[in-house]
Amino acid sequence: MNSKIKLIKGDITKQHVDAVVNAANSSLMGGGGVDGAIHRAGGKQILDDCMDIINRQGRCKTGEAVITTGGKLPARYVIHTVGPVWNGGHKNEPELLANCYRNSLQLAVDKGIKTIAFPNISTGIYHYPKAEAAQVAINAVNNFLKDNDSIAEVTFVCFDEENFALYKDLLG
Ligand code: ADP
Repeated sequence: MNSKIKLIKGDITKQHVDAVVNAANSSLMGGGGVDGAIHRAGGKQILDDCMDIINRQGRCKTGEAVITTGGKLPARYVIHTVGPVWNGGHKNEPELLANCYRNSLQLAVDKGIKTIAFPNISTGIYHYPKAEAAQVAINAVNNFLKDNDSIAEVTFVCFDEENFALYKDLLG
């Protein structure tokens, strides 16, 4: 395993890192799953920042990422990225999912963020097959870290046992 990559099973809203990533939808107005959990735990300030972003630049496109305060979370920032909805794999889903990880990490670098935690983007309501999503996520993060020294630690936070087992196998 890349020494900068950590794997845990748990709740991303509890992570003491510089930034946690949210698997948002393009409206940035919250929703179910990890998105709902982050907005509930982080409070209204996150939604206020999201509304400012939407008013300034419109909806967040699939694969893109934006940053807000962490509100009441232990994390200082939330990076919101919009994963692809699984559509059978013929709608550029792997590239779009990799973009979520790359663009979130690039935003982190731009903000001087050193430690960042990711959920398993698109593997809930968006139905991306978990094994394929894990491989895309790990490859994208590994490739990014190869070319970038400023990130000190990337944590994959798996909420469900199935994802945790898949990541454990793939990370070795
Ligand atoms: P998407 O719409 O991108 O599929 P979901 O929130 O439905 O987003 O699911 C993404 C992943 O987040 C799923 O694997 C789900 O188990 C996980 N998840 C749900 N709640 C949390 C949480 N509190 N912390 C970390 N991961 C979570």
